[in-house]
Amino acid sequence: MKLTRREQLAAWLDALMERATVIAPRQVESELLYRPVAASDEVVFDFQRTAMSPKGYFLPSTEVLLEIEKRGAEVTLDEALPQEEQVLFAIRPCDARGLRVLDALLVEHEPADVYYAGRRHQTTLVGLACPRLWPECFCTSIGGAPDDSSDVDVMLYEVDGGYLVSEVTAKGAALLAGLQAEETDQPAPVSDRDGPSVLVLEAEAWPALFNELYWARFTERCLSCHACTYVCPTCRCFDVRDYTTAAGPNGIRIERLRSWDSCMAAAYRRIAGGHNPRSSKMHRLRNRYYCKFNYCPQDFGAVACVGCGRCIAVCPVGVDIVEMLGDVAALAAARVGEGGADE
Ligand code: SF4
Ligand code: SF4
Repeated sequence: MKLTRREQLAAWLDALMERATVIAPRQVESELLYRPVAASDEVVFDFQRTAMSPKGYFLPSTEVLLEIEKRGAEVTLDEALPQEEQVLFAIRPCDARGLRVLDALLVEHEPADVYYAGRRHQTTLVGLACPRLWPECFCTSIGGAPDDSSDVDVMLYEVDGGYLVSEVTAKGAALLAGLQAEETDQPAPVSDRDGPSVLVLEAEAWPALFNELYWARFTERCLSCHACTYVCPTCRCFDVRDYTTAAGPNGIRIERLRSWDSCMAAAYRRIAGGHNPRSSKMHRLRNRYYCKFNYCPQDFGAVACVGCGRCIAVCPVGVDIVEMLGDVAALAAARVGEGGADE
């Protein structure tokens, strides 16, 4: 473990920005967001969580996947694979864990998403431990912790006068070249874990609750506004469309764009002929929760929620995932009490 003073960390960051794109928490009007920074004094160190997760630096809200040019019978494809090295500075442990979830779905499951995988490979993660759980956070209920360094390359812990620096991976150690710091025996501070604690049912327990009337009641106030999916570090639904960007006697040029989509959108599951298996908001919101706690764990081995609390904070009508998890645990317990667990 090393100890670096604030001004030493700032000097290292300024030098790093000369050679790599650094993305860090920055105030953008009224919101704190991960954004590219040009100087260390733009970086906000003292924060709870950013309004959006940093997933957009791996899975952009809109990106060009391919450029297609057609001249007569000749078709050429130009694939815009990510090339640039980037450093994500001051990522919170829950957001880093969110990338682990996305890795399970988009990299470790064939076929890999080469665009996402490329950005993951070219990014170094510098974590910043939370000293405590913030309002709405519940990472400790989902196997995480405010000081968990499992998913970053370097971990920073704020201490009096500066930061303790832990080199977690070789990639992280290489990034730290040039940082002025002294060796120390000081142990990393243990963050305060006080906060909401909720029982998250095992994936196998969810199917028995699928037809409960509870879902209609709980989802009644949802507005299908999509906000919960856009802020979530693990939601990754997308849409792909082709747009003609040039057309003339010599041929046409088409861009294939991918952009975020939301499973909360009424049209998301509509199929040819107009049938929609998720036609009501009950179907859609229930599906969002089953995706996170039943389908993803069973299909990819990862619960697709990291307890960041953003969906609670952003929901305009107070739909609360912690409330839902508590209700569902109570429903499951009641079914066991009634002898209905094996139905
Ligand atoms: S708390 Fe909400 S926003 Fe955060 S990871 Fe879980 S579902 Fe996504
Ligand atoms: S943020 Fe709230 S209202 Fe909007 S779609 Fe999500 S649960 Fe529904």
